[in-house]
Amino acid sequence: MGKQWYGVMGDPVAHSVSPAMMNAAFGALGLDAVYLAFCVSASRVEEAVRGLGALGAAGVNVTIPHKQAVLALAASQSAEAQLAGAANTLVFTGEGAIEAHNTDVGGWWQSVSPSLPDCALTVALVGAGGAARAVLTALALYRPDSRVCVIARDAAKARRLQADFQNRLLVTVCLWHERQAAIAASHLAVNATSLGMWPNTAGCAVTDASCFHRGQVVQDLVYTPLETRWLRLAREAGATTVDGLGMLVQQGAAAFQLWLGQSAPATLMREAAVAALCERDG
Ligand code: NAP
Repeated sequence: MGKQWYGVMGDPVAHSVSPAMMNAAFGALGLDAVYLAFCVSASRVEEAVRGLGALGAAGVNVTIPHKQAVLALAASQSAEAQLAGAANTLVFTGEGAIEAHNTDVGGWWQSVSPSLPDCALTVALVGAGGAARAVLTALALYRPDSRVCVIARDAAKARRLQADFQNRLLVTVCLWHERQAAIAASHLAVNATSLGMWPNTAGCAVTDASCFHRGQVVQDLVYTPLETRWLRLAREAGATTVDGLGMLVQQGAAAFQLWLGQSAPATLMREAAVAALCERDG
């Protein structure tokens, strides 16, 4: 078999650390494979996906803003992709068919579940975009007894998520100005907004640390910087913290497994991602 090639398509995509992470994994396992980044505009998504398949790509990751659009191009969809209404991983089969998967869903769950208690979870989910949707999908599939409070500055967006998941999970909506109390009452608090992301590192979804406490698990999906203000306040208050890089690595490792049928070297992928982020952001 000749060289296998893979990639990530999005817009913008130049900042992605996925090529560094995936090529490090291919290299460590001695695979004759390469992973590239493709900047694709929204108007050319179908052309790009079909072209990649026709040219012999084995698989591709899909990132913002194309995760919803690619779903319609696939002959089959995994349960995660179907429920999330979005895909981040496509597999091109030998017969030319396209399978759509969503490894953000399992990747998020793998990144946080080892830290969680066994009881029915109370979750405070801050944000109502694509990442929040992946979190709700994972909870609906893997912990359907969870109670989730969605907190967003735009309550209409939170209510839309509530409506989409209400048959699978107990979802409530909290107004933005009431978020401290909802976060304080949670076993797990997740920041799924871009607040705190480099270079705006002073941003934070809480006004102070009073809602964080020992025994609570606090996660940020933002991974630049690795310890955001949200995570620092939580750590200083005694909570168990989980950074966002674990989700990135686990979604990549799950895509690797789908494409190659073997486990990915996740520890090495994390090291490669950290090195690429240091080089990118200084
Ligand atoms: P998105 O679809 O654009 O959603 C962003 C969410 O953040 C929206 O609810 C938005 O509210 C909210 N938001 C943005 N700025 C805010 C502010 N100043 N105050 C309050 N809310 C604010 O983006 P996404 O795909 O969900 O991604 C969200 C974050 O997660 C990003 O930082 C992304 O890098 C990260 N992420 C990480 C991973 C990972 O593997 N770790 C995976 C996916 C995403 P409005 O709708 O009102 O603007």
